[in-house]
Amino acid sequence: MSTYVTAVLRTDEPPLMHEAVLEAVRLLKEGEVVALPTETVYGLAANALDANAVAKIFEAKERPTFDPLIVHLPNKTQLDLVADVPPEIAQTVKQLTERFWPGPLTLLLPKKSIVPDIVTAGLPTVAVRVSSNAVFKRIISALDKPLAAPSANRFGSISPTSASAVLAELDTRIHLIIDAGASLYGLESTIIKIEPGSPKPLITIVRPGPLTPEDLKVYGKVKVATRTVVDEATEAPGQLASHYAPRTPLRLLSRPSDFIPEEGKRYALMSYRGEEKDGYLHLCEWEEVMMLSPGNGKLPEAAVRFFHILRRLDELGVDEIIAEPLHEHGMGIAMMDKLRRASVRRP
Ligand code: AMP
Ligand code: MG
Repeated sequence: MSTYVTAVLRTDEPPLMHEAVLEAVRLLKEGEVVALPTETVYGLAANALDANAVAKIFEAKERPTFDPLIVHLPNKTQLDLVADVPPEIAQTVKQLTERFWPGPLTLLLPKKSIVPDIVTAGLPTVAVRVSSNAVFKRIISALDKPLAAPSANRFGSISPTSASAVLAELDTRIHLIIDAGASLYGLESTIIKIEPGSPKPLITIVRPGPLTPEDLKVYGKVKVATRTVVDEATEAPGQLASHYAPRTPLRLLSRPSDFIPEEGKRYALMSYRGEEKDGYLHLCEWEEVMMLSPGNGKLPEAAVRFFHILRRLDELGVDEIIAEPLHEHGMGIAMMDKLRRASVRRP
């Protein structure tokens, strides 16, 4: 693999922003990859219509080529460039994109041939969205091309929600990281598939994310796909059972009594809100307790801190990370999905 001196450019003052955008656009035009902020997590972007540029994403991430990438559009009107919207679902696509784009909603649609096969891992569908991040918008608008941009982490690792987390993942593997502060949502986009249905279209959430079944139910009958190892190759191939994994073993509990500490082992707790009455704080002498949403516990706040805290706990070098279960509604669905995947050990 090629090695680079990885630059990090800030965007928190107008002249810095201007320079950062210019440099990102220059590199992307040259067919290079650049790590960019989005409102979900940081992405590793390349021109989606240039197969050689996209190949560099797979190389930097060490991502297997069976795992397709999301294509980000500069605006809604470019949807027709990359996807063929079937007439039976056109009305629903229009309603959803009008309501949620730009934003954390990714649609799976039949792909047009302009999208190289490497982007979709040979699948006949393409995953598309429009990001609402102000810096991302400037860069993609200046480029005026679709960008393929999976999360800017090494394959299977924890998604980055800050420029420093990207650096920890991809230092020396890429030229440039654009820093726009912490990600707004902290969780990857909600991915959906739409099928015609009566009386309502069928919306299947193939990856839970910031937009919840509650948000989508006005537009169709919503189902959250529960994936097994057998069917994961067909629906959303990158959603491997073992994913988002810290190097430290992670165990997700269902209730406090599930956990009996072993003598001499060092444990850290990922707590939802750090409340005594939840029953986890006194299960052992924790090496560290980190709270997702201290106090009353709010799922959107927990989501913003989720990957950051997982990364911090992983850095402690304890024997095991123990995670409290979260309410499985709203953004809790996506976090529980990720905790389950993180707790499956890689071979
Ligand atoms: P990310 O790493 O956030 O870009 O996520 C990309 C994920 O989107 C993949 O791992 C798949 O789960 C899903 N995805 C992308 N394209 C497709 C597609 N054409 N069909 C099904 N799932 C897709
Ligand atoms: Mg990812």
